[in-house]
Amino acid sequence: MTQPRLHLADRLEAASTIRLQADRAHYLTNVLRLRPGFPLRVFNAESGEWDAVLAALGKRDATIEVRALARPPAPEPGPVLHFAPFRRNRLDWMVEKAVELGVARLVPVLTERTVVKLDNPDRLRAIVVEAAEQCGRLSVPGLDAPVPFGAWLAGRGEGTPPLLFADEAGGGAPVAAALAEAGAGEGPDILVGPEGGFAPRERALLLGAPGVRPVSLGPRILRAETAALAALAAWQALRPQGPGGSGF
Ligand code: SAM
Repeated sequence: MTQPRLHLADRLEAASTIRLQADRAHYLTNVLRLRPGFPLRVFNAESGEWDAVLAALGKRDATIEVRALARPPAPEPGPVLHFAPFRRNRLDWMVEKAVELGVARLVPVLTERTVVKLDNPDRLRAIVVEAAEQCGRLSVPGLDAPVPFGAWLAGRGEGTPPLLFADEAGGGAPVAAALAEAGAGEGPDILVGPEGGFAPRERALLLGAPGVRPVSLGPRILRAETAALAALAAWQALRPQGPGGSGF
């Protein structure tokens, strides 16, 4: 089994000890079944990734001893995925895969045909952290509070990155071409609509907004979760991979 990775927000440095509270201690002992002395990795975007060991286990807490730096902090630029929330099980799956594919931030946009309320953001945030722990990244993407479409579009003033709008109506540039033109940079903003699609009024506003570019994800109508991941996979495929490449 590869060494378990634990995201900790604490400042990580050699010979420091960190006390974990109940839920994280429970995860180590009852889910990962770790025992004192067991090696693990702890990480965050600011401190990088560190070798550590489970030093002690209490009834409702645990202590981690941080040992040596295993991987220094490194930038992990990625796209910002703006999405209209959809049904929970599919949404959970999409969020987990988006983290694996290098998304930098997740922004729920409440469009006219969005029929799902994001009633438990903490649950989604836990999925984001767990996916980051599993896939080996150092950064944990942010999950914004849901924003109504009108306010969201009004907030996209000058200086916001180009927005690739996944337009199922067709006629948009192929997503890979648009991504290649957008350049390697931080990562573009990508917008995917809800299961019922964008309302005609929303689509017209998007097509008329500065810096918004309609893109096609192919000739078929994809489910919202498929569309989001197709766009992220296209972005990931264009990135320098492996040693020397940022990988992100
Ligand atoms: N209007 C669709 C229909 O006719 O069934 C429903 C919307 S689709 C299920 C969900 C979202 O995925 C769309 O709003 C769009 O953002 C994106 N999408 C799906 N297929 C696409 C494609 N071929 N090209 C671009 N975007 C697509």
